[in-house]
Amino acid sequence: MHKVEIGGLLSGGRSMDVEDEVPIEPFEGIAFEEPARVRLTMRYAQGWLEVRGSVQARAAAACDICLEPVEFDVRADVEERLDPSGDRELFGESNVLAGSRLDVADLAQQVLLSALPMGVRCEQHTTE
Ligand SMILES: [Zn+2]
Repeated sequence: MHKVEIGGLLSGGRSMDVEDEVPIEPFEGIAFEEPARVRLTMRYAQGWLEVRGSVQARAAAACDICLEPVEFDVRADVEERLDPSGDRELFGESNVLAGSRLDVADLAQQVLLSALPMGVRCEQHTTE
């Protein structure tokens, strides 16, 4: 389930591309009705797994002020370094990388959530 085996990459592959569509769990009133589109390029160099790419999703929520439904695109760039040896965990408690398996869904979820706006406003209540 949205896990990528990177053993080949770790044992001498040069780079690896991943394209996937993964469902995203709702978060604080923001729902993702369609799977997020994930594109990643992974490289293994000097003991680090470099993951670059982007995650895109369509989010649906309610305006904080009038509760009108609002839809918006969320796009997040991915630029992470992971430690395949597991000694340094950059994602806190998560298991984005477990052994030689990368959990694309978990990665996408975390990257997207970090890119969500602080508040949701409909067009009428957008202050800019
Ligand atoms: Zn509003």
